[in-house]
Amino acid sequence: MEVENEASCSPSSASGGSREYKVVMLGAGGVGKSEWHFLVGIQHSPGHSGTHCGFAMTMQFISHQFPDYHDPTIEDAYKTQVRIDNEPAYLDILDTAGQAEFTAMREQYMRGGEGFIICYSVTDRQSFQEAAKFKELIFQVRHTYEIPLVLVGNKIDLEQFRQVSTEEGLSLAREYNCAFFETSAALRFCIDDAFHGLVREIRKKESMPSL
Ligand code: GDP
Ligand code: MG
Repeated sequence: MEVENEASCSPSSASGGSREYKVVMLGAGGVGKSEWHFLVGIQHSPGHSGTHCGFAMTMQFISHQFPDYHDPTIEDAYKTQVRIDNEPAYLDILDTAGQAEFTAMREQYMRGGEGFIICYSVTDRQSFQEAAKFKELIFQVRHTYEIPLVLVGNKIDLEQFRQVSTEEGLSLAREYNCAFFETSAALRFCIDDAFHGLVREIRKKESMPSL
């Protein structure tokens, strides 16, 4: 299900052009952040700390196997090129490891991100509670709330295990003043929409001279 917070999802009057967007994935361990990367057409960035083999994971995806061997402590980065609203966008996506609270590493990626995808799993209430803390954590580093965000509730294919309702997600997105998507990496459902939504938010912010 794709649910957009109307307050923040007006069409982009982008000024972006062809450039790189630094996107950071935030969220508790196990919510599905790493799963996303080979769904968005990855190109592994050399020089990052992670040890995943992007090609192997892409092959897993192509052969319709759903990999389950991600190491939750691994941080990694991927690049992909997409077209969003008829403009090319190079996404530089940093996949953070869940338990990075209060580390220098966390501060570094919060400083560098132009936009953040805050993920929780709809089957994990604690991950939702953690998602609710990220805006404040970003504020502590950036000293502004005007940072493009998208809130994502993943794993909606596991409806029978749902612990967080769509309404709760929507309500947090309203508080965050950001777009909200419910997704399934397993079904490749709304994954692209979430990334596109974030790029639109970044472009929208850029088109506002006062910010
Ligand atoms: P991360 O710690 O946030 O990077 O989470 P991972 O991407 O490593 O995913 C944790 C586990 O959840 C893995 O076993 C994934 O295969 C699984 N997973 C991720 N997304 C989904 C989803 O949308 N549906 C289901 N059923 N499982 C998922
Ligand atoms: Mg991971």
